[in-house]
Amino acid sequence: MSRFLKDRYSKLEVYTPGEQPRDKKYIKLNTNESPFPPSKGVIKAVNKSEVKDLRLYSDPTGTALKTALAELHNVKRENIFLSNGSDDILNFSFMAFTEKGAMFPEISYGFYEVFAELHGIESVKVPLKDDFSIDPKDYIGDGRMIVIANPNAPTGLCLSVEEIEGILKQNPDSVVVIDEAYVDFGGQSCYPLIKTYKNLLVVQTFSKSRSMAGARLGFSIADEELIADLERIKYSTNPYNINRLTTAAGVAAVKDNDYYIKNCQKIIAARDYTTRELEALGFFVIPSKANFIFAKSDKIGGEDLYLKLKENGILVRHFTKEKIKDFNRITVGSQKEMEAFIKVTKQILEGK
Ligand code: PMP
Repeated sequence: MSRFLKDRYSKLEVYTPGEQPRDKKYIKLNTNESPFPPSKGVIKAVNKSEVKDLRLYSDPTGTALKTALAELHNVKRENIFLSNGSDDILNFSFMAFTEKGAMFPEISYGFYEVFAELHGIESVKVPLKDDFSIDPKDYIGDGRMIVIANPNAPTGLCLSVEEIEGILKQNPDSVVVIDEAYVDFGGQSCYPLIKTYKNLLVVQTFSKSRSMAGARLGFSIADEELIADLERIKYSTNPYNINRLTTAAGVAAVKDNDYYIKNCQKIIAARDYTTRELEALGFFVIPSKANFIFAKSDKIGGEDLYLKLKENGILVRHFTKEKIKDFNRITVGSQKEMEAFIKVTKQILEGK
């Protein structure tokens, strides 16, 4: 760290992304990526002529991609915001809607805490219930921005659309951000509620169900006024936040929606298989609606299992937070990858 860095940044506890090691080939079950490639349409769209056009700036209005997403969701283009990964939308929300602070679950996506710190926002961290679920009654923001991942990460548990509507009704003076990064794996999106609730900001991503984590593309659905607020911030930071190749890939991905729906069904089947097998091995598994499973065993500690799996070429995610340190978060990959994971886990438990 240089002596030039402002004090407020030098004290930041930064977000630690999942490992992306290059030392050998791992079965990567640690960052909730898709095991499936992008659709054929996406691969075709990112072509030579698009690459040649990289000399030109991308379209700052994002009209083509907004149109495709608006049609898919039956909303207006003005209800869509595009960003460089959904992390950017979350960051913008923390900049934009937190005059009175922020509120989010104590156990959730670690970036919420980092964004709050980054922008010097006072935040309330709401404990989960003993069964790791969120109690909607706990969310009375009094003007604070409320952020809930639904399904929550790393638990995989969902609130129903009715429960989210209850939170919206209870908090007319707070923006309620529903982070639906994992909604396509068995949850239900609450975006139709934007027509009734002007304080709802739904955040989604192309990183998980749409196999485009490396392209960095996220989007939001909300009332036009909230979207206009986000645009103000975008035009004050980086108007060309979506590059040309990602835009082309995004439009093609929306057109190939059916392919991605089928992939989600495969992930759900592999998730059910993995849950059954882990339970048969004595694990406690939280019932997940996401493309990951959060599980612990009383035969082996969370960190120990994580390290032994890594030695055997399988990466999962272990968090050191006290309340969840016994668990590991296991991304659901292909059926073959999950069979390999179960086989190795069995061997580890048997001490082989
Ligand atoms: N929300 C949640 C709950 C996540 O787990 C992630 C992925 N780490 C994100 C948002 C951000 O995803 P991306 O920036 O790739 O869209």
